[in-house]
Amino acid sequence: MSPQSVVIVGAGQAGGRTAQALRQQGYAGTIALLGDESMPPYERPPLSKDVLLGNADASSLLLLPEAGWRDLDVALHCSARVVEIDRSARRIRLADDTFMAFDRLVLATGVRPRVFPGRVEVGTELLYLRTIADAARLQPRLTKGKRIGIVGAGFIGLELASTARALGAEVTLIEAAARPLARLLPEAFALEQLARHSARGVAVLLGQAVERLAPGQIHLASGRVIEVDTIVIGIGARANDELAAAAGLAVRDGILVDVAGRTCDRDIYAVGDVARIVDADTGRDDRLESWRHAENSAQAVAASILELPVQPTPTPWFWSDQYGRNIQIAGRPDDSHRCVRKGDDHDGPQLTYYLDESQRLRGAIGVDCAREVRRAMKLIEAESPINVDDLPGPRAKAAVKVEVTVS
Ligand code: FAD
Repeated sequence: MSPQSVVIVGAGQAGGRTAQALRQQGYAGTIALLGDESMPPYERPPLSKDVLLGNADASSLLLLPEAGWRDLDVALHCSARVVEIDRSARRIRLADDTFMAFDRLVLATGVRPRVFPGRVEVGTELLYLRTIADAARLQPRLTKGKRIGIVGAGFIGLELASTARALGAEVTLIEAAARPLARLLPEAFALEQLARHSARGVAVLLGQAVERLAPGQIHLASGRVIEVDTIVIGIGARANDELAAAAGLAVRDGILVDVAGRTCDRDIYAVGDVARIVDADTGRDDRLESWRHAENSAQAVAASILELPVQPTPTPWFWSDQYGRNIQIAGRPDDSHRCVRKGDDHDGPQLTYYLDESQRLRGAIGVDCAREVRRAMKLIEAESPINVDDLPGPRAKAAVKVEVTVS
C-alpha cells in the first residue's frame, strides 16, 4: 500500500532528488524535506570550481528555486536539524523538540569533512570545503600571491589547488600517503595528475605527514615548516550516520542498505553519500560519494517506496575538472587491471581503458572525451570480452595507441 507520508532527513542533492522522484513517479501523499543548512537543496560540485572562480553564484546551484518546492507540494524545512529517530513511534524529533510522524523515512544526511586529527594550536584557522558557507569563507583568500596550504590530495584538494592556481595563489599540496587517491584511481593515473599539478606550479609534497598546525604555519613530521596565509583541510569525509546508528539501524561507515536503498527497517531508506550499498548477489559493498550516485539512488529509493520496479544499479561515474580539463571516471578501474590508453598522452583528449584478466572492460578514464566515456560505460555494462584493438580512441582519426603497463 502506498504510504501517506514520507519524511526526508537531509535536504542536499540526494534528499531533494528523492522528493522530486517521488512526485515524478506518481506519489500523491505528503512529503516533508528537512535540512540543517539555511539554503534549499543545491548541487555541490561547482563549489570547488565555478563558485570559487567567481563564475557561479549560490542561486545557480539550486536543484529548484524555492517556489518550485511549493509547486511540487513538498514541505521544505531549512535550518531544521533532526536529532532523533523514534522507530517504535514512527516519528522524528527536531532540535527544537518538535516531532514529525512518518510512514516512510528517507535518510539523506550525506557526509561531513573529516576533521584534522593532529595538534592544532590555539588561534589557528582551518578551512574546509563542503558547503556554500565554506566556499564563501574560502573565496576571498584565493587571490594573487596568497599562500594556500592544502592538507590532503583527494579530489577536493586537487580541484581546489587547480582553482587556486587559476586565481594566482601560491599552492602547497601536502599528502600523507605515498600515493594519492588510492581508493579511487589506479596509481599511474593518479601520479600523472599530480605531475600536472607540479607542472602548473603547485608544490606537491607526497608521503609527508602533518604533525601540527599553527597560525600561518604547517609543521610536517619531518621537521619542515611551511609558511602559509590560509590552511585548507581536505582529508576525506565522514558519513553522517550517527542518527541512524542511535536508532539501532545497521551502519558501517555509512548506513547499510540494499540496492533498492532499504535499511534493515522496512520503512526506512538511505540515499546518496551516506548510504553504503551491500549486495550479497554481486559482492558489492561500497559507499559512493558522487553526483551521479546521488541522482540514481534517489530514483531507486523513490521507486522502492512506491513498490515500483527498481532499475539495475548503473555503472559508477564521477568527474573532476582540473586546469580546464574534464576528467571522467567510469566503472571501477584499479591497479590490477591491464591498462590501454588511446589518444593524446599530453594535453589533448585521451581515454584509458582498464581490462581484467578475462579481457572484460572494468573501467575507463577519459580526459576531455565525454562521449567516448559514455560509450565505454556501455561496454563495461555488457561485461563481454573485448579485443583492445577494437576499442575506439577519443578522436577516431588521430588516435594514437599507447600501452601503459602497471605492475
Ligand atoms: P549532501 O549534498 O551533503 O546533503 C546532505 C545534507 O544533509 C546536508 O545539507 C547536511 O547538512 C544535511 N544533514 C545532515 N545531517 C542532518 C540532520 N541530522 N538533520 C538535518 N539535515 C542534516 N561529485 C561528482 O561526481 N563530481 C564532482 O566534480 C564533485 N565535486 C564536488 C565538489 C565539492 C566541493 C563537494 C563537497 C562535493 C563534490 N562532489 C562531486 C560530490 C557530490 O556533491 C556529493 O556526492 C553529493 O552532494 C551528495 O549528495 P547528498 O545529498 O548525499 O549529500
